[in-house]
Amino acid sequence: MKSPLEYARSSDTCAYEYVPVPAFEDNYIWVVSDGRNAVAVDPGDAAPVRAYLAKRGWRLVAILLTHHHNDHVGGVADLLADARVPVYGPAGEALGPLDAFVTRVKGGDAVHLEAPALDLTVLDVPGHTRGHIAYFQAADAAGTPHVFCGDTLFACGCGRLFEGTPAQMLDSLDALAALPGDTHVHCAHEYTLSNIRFALACDPDNADLRDWSREAAALRERGVPTLPTTIAHERAVNPFLRAGDAAVQAALTEALHESVPDRLAAFAMMREWKNRFR
Ligand SMILES: [Zn+2]
Repeated sequence: MKSPLEYARSSDTCAYEYVPVPAFEDNYIWVVSDGRNAVAVDPGDAAPVRAYLAKRGWRLVAILLTHHHNDHVGGVADLLADARVPVYGPAGEALGPLDAFVTRVKGGDAVHLEAPALDLTVLDVPGHTRGHIAYFQAADAAGTPHVFCGDTLFACGCGRLFEGTPAQMLDSLDALAALPGDTHVHCAHEYTLSNIRFALACDPDNADLRDWSREAAALRERGVPTLPTTIAHERAVNPFLRAGDAAVQAALTEALHESVPDRLAAFAMMREWKNRFR
């Protein structure tokens, strides 16, 4: 099986760069650039974005927001003070003082940017928050798809259900899992190692997961991001995308001493277990 990194390397011919700029403790602010102009996704803090753009000589031309949490929107006002660039954000969420500056988008809407040239389709992915959206790019110059999914899908995990129901989140994850397998998944946090520890409890006999556990640990030891991941990789190793799998359901029954009537129940049990898993 290809690791996420191998998938990422396969698109090195693409001239655009998709860079995870670290922020706070474990956030990534994804920056997409054509080598001159850049888009920032979920800039919770302006300082690391400014510093990174200055280092590369890139100019910020647009901001994309997935949901209203402060670690995703907290840097927008400062960045707008540097330059008034267009900001796209979820139609279904209040963004306080930013409301006046944000172009609202919802599932099915298209976002077109000139430079970097990006054609994005908005997906509604509620669950972590009520109005959470994701941005899907069907193909970069090399034909590789990309998705910016905020706090919905993580490498080997998914976001907490702060505002939505398990059924909403499962629908959202199903929509993401239905994207092409080679889609690069740009998640907003480096939670991979702790997610893998939990995934191994839910899916202990998954050989792909055990391989990935070793690879991810080696990447983090070298200080390398485990992202982007890919949809194909997540279908293979992410227990939240495998709630219908018999082995996962059996592991849940054994660990939680509860029967698992169906896939939604398995998902809900897993999500609740993850909240208290140490
Ligand atoms: Zn969040």
